Amino acid sequence: MPAELLIAGGHVLDPREEIDEPCDILIREGHIAELGPPGSLPDRPDGGERLDATGKHVFPGFVDPHVHLRTPGQEYKEDIESGTAAAAAGGFCAVVAMPNTVPAVDDAAVLRSLTDTARSAARVPVGFLASITRRLEGAELTEMAELRDAGALGFTDDGKPVVSAGMLRKALQYQRLAGGVVALHEEDPALSGEGVMHEGAVSARLGLAGIPSVSESTMVARDGALAVYEDGRVHLQHVSCMESLTAIERLKAAGASVSAEVCPHHLTLTDDIVRTLDSRFKMNPPLRSERDRSALVDGLRRGLVDCVATDHAPHARHEKEVPFEQAPMGTTGLETAFAALFTELVMPGEIELATVVERMSAGAALFDLPTPRIARGEPANICLVDLSAKWEVGARGYASRSDNCCFHGRTLHGRVVLTLAGGATAFRAPLLAEVGALAR
Ligand SMILES: [Zn+2]
Ligand SMILES: [Zn+2]
Repeated sequence: MPAELLIAGGHVLDPREEIDEPCDILIREGHIAELGPPGSLPDRPDGGERLDATGKHVFPGFVDPHVHLRTPGQEYKEDIESGTAAAAAGGFCAVVAMPNTVPAVDDAAVLRSLTDTARSAARVPVGFLASITRRLEGAELTEMAELRDAGALGFTDDGKPVVSAGMLRKALQYQRLAGGVVALHEEDPALSGEGVMHEGAVSARLGLAGIPSVSESTMVARDGALAVYEDGRVHLQHVSCMESLTAIERLKAAGASVSAEVCPHHLTLTDDIVRTLDSRFKMNPPLRSERDRSALVDGLRRGLVDCVATDHAPHARHEKEVPFEQAPMGTTGLETAFAALFTELVMPGEIELATVVERMSAGAALFDLPTPRIARGEPANICLVDLSAKWEVGARGYASRSDNCCFHGRTLHGRVVLTLAGGATAFRAPLLAEVGALAR
């Protein structure tokens, strides 16, 4: 149902539109019909609702270019409905789903059936990437042009790197004909080996096999060089270390068409917390050192890293509740992304709120999706956030089907209370009428 709504008196912050002030927003038939100073607009649309947003912030909806919705094949972890419910609860108005499903999204028939399911089951629009190689085995390219015709936004073997430089080169040559972005999980398996966490002082102390940062940065440098040579367009997924940023800086300076994303967990946590041996802190790439973490924050601030992505990776409890070494890699992240960044980076003054808000939706343009804007005539892609609300992660459960969240149990500030996606209400906090009650 298209939203009919007056959002009254909220503090609107849209850095792209250079708005940072209290505003009323009138939404008619799912579109932003009017913007004006508080009290200047008709009190409510015909048949619509007036929502008092005084004391709350209104941001352009967030866009996540990297989520795992686990469908087809692993619906016990997540599916399109639960995954997009988690997205909406986190303020996201669109997400991009990875193809490492069972079977993989490596042919047009699988992609078409997913797109059909999403049309009826998704709470927010979902874009799909197809795999670069068949079954993500790295041996044979998919039919990239056909997959693009079927709606793939681009290609990735995420979960795995494209080990062969020759294979990636061929994919970049086909990309010229097929279009779309090639997104890369950068890791050299020969360097990662059997590693289960970041290689450093903590892994040495714990006696756990490490994944060195050069496992990522050498592949970033290699694939960036290939992108320059083939004039390809690549997006580097979940960059996690300082050496990768150095490589990205060089590539961007050379004019390469390279973009990069970073995850909230890499921006806010370090390998130090792995001392707990809690498998919620096991992900790939791993939590790295404080030096890496602060370099990532600096990269995000400067725009060297283009956008935030969650790499939302749900796993069932029975899979994660095993010894650290045996647990699968991944953390959920859609429901906590903004609050984690606000609490751990904005509140201590490490980064500006406006920068976080901009980077939370900057992934849209990189995948040729519309960028949410708070401007007259735009479809309503908006999230309403109560920055003063404190909440304990997981205390009221999760919208996601899985609870392997690395922020579980933490008290965060900033609660999403309403998400409008593509002009419709995708999420509304149960206590919106008395949202103050959420603050403890
Ligand atoms: Zn990955
Ligand atoms: Zn991933």
